[in-house]
Amino acid sequence: MEIPFHKPYLCEEEISGVMDTLRSGWLTMGPKTVEFERRFASYIGSADAVAVNSGTSALHLALKAIGLEQGDEVIVPTMTFTATAEVVCYFNAKPVLVDVEKKTCNISVQAIEKALSPKTKAIIPVHYGGLPCDMDAITDIAKSEGLYVIEDAAHSIPAWYKDRPVGTIGDLTCFSFYATKPLTTGEGGMVSTDNGEWAERIRRLRLHGIGKDAWKRYSKGGSWYYEVMESGYKYNMTDIQASMGLSQLDKIEYMHNRRRYISEFYDREFADSEALLTPYICPDRVSSNHLYALKIKPEALSIDRNTFIERLREKGVGTSVHFIPLHKHPFYREAFGYNGTDYPDAEWAYERLISLPIYPSMSEYDTQYVADMVKEIHGKHKK
Ligand SMILES: *Cc1c(COP(=O)(O)O)cnc(C)c1O
Repeated sequence: MEIPFHKPYLCEEEISGVMDTLRSGWLTMGPKTVEFERRFASYIGSADAVAVNSGTSALHLALKAIGLEQGDEVIVPTMTFTATAEVVCYFNAKPVLVDVEKKTCNISVQAIEKALSPKTKAIIPVHYGGLPCDMDAITDIAKSEGLYVIEDAAHSIPAWYKDRPVGTIGDLTCFSFYATKPLTTGEGGMVSTDNGEWAERIRRLRLHGIGKDAWKRYSKGGSWYYEVMESGYKYNMTDIQASMGLSQLDKIEYMHNRRRYISEFYDREFADSEALLTPYICPDRVSSNHLYALKIKPEALSIDRNTFIERLREKGVGTSVHFIPLHKHPFYREAFGYNGTDYPDAEWAYERLISLPIYPSMSEYDTQYVADMVKEIHGKHKK
């Protein structure tokens, strides 16, 4: 058996959608992108959504929209992908890394409070694996300190915090449509916001800072004349990507149900394994179930996490680790002096985490095989 860590869920609809776009002759940002933005915004219930070429670009332009400047500070959890913090560095601002909660790997509210300074401008909570952060507490801090909240929702379509879909809570929310994410366009991203001015600014910045509807200049009713209003970026989405996104959006509920089903299956399978800790379930939140982040208890096993992963690999089960905390990477250590003693809970989680395969095309046989192999290795090495 070979079970890869991830396979994108692509069907005839994605293929024919892309073919239609190729045949239409309009390849890059145009009618499909506009349609994808409208349908995405209406799906999550935000006033507006702006499509870009990656989740990283989405985060970068969200920080441009709030006017981040050199010397500002932005609070970011250490348990994330480098994109969340690197965009802060683009501004010569400082990503202030903070610790996470042991049980969810989401940003710790206490750690945010400790990290506040007069230079703090924003908080970027990451909904780890698709489970929303404690948004009431984070919003309260932001309100009382005058900070912006930009959500990193790269894992979180669809997800709900209480009765609110992710994408409608913070000032701006950034999604990723990278190949491994819950909705994919190969590469791509989206910023959702209720603030019309920010949405317009992001629309302008994603296409060279050119004034309104620049993409229309090559359409029938378009004009050759345009004006550059500021120094922008080449961050636009293509209609090829958007047509994939539209097909993915059509089956988003199905894909979510499949991942939820697999997650609940693993939970039941591992419930009696003493040295395994299944992902925490928050009663007031709905996770997108993007990741199934199992934790092992190394104190109850004769092997460590890395060996556990190696044994799974020998059985043909692909896994991953989300994430290597940012403070452990040479860049963040050297540029900002971060060090492990400040992040005990992220360090604790990092030694234990194994992300198991979870994607809609996994069969019953696949999921049973993964669960059996995990239990077999657990049984062999339990102290
Ligand atoms: C994937 C990811 C990103 C970056 O998205 P890209 O589309 O790859 O640029 C940002 N944050 C997190 C938490 C991610 O997992």
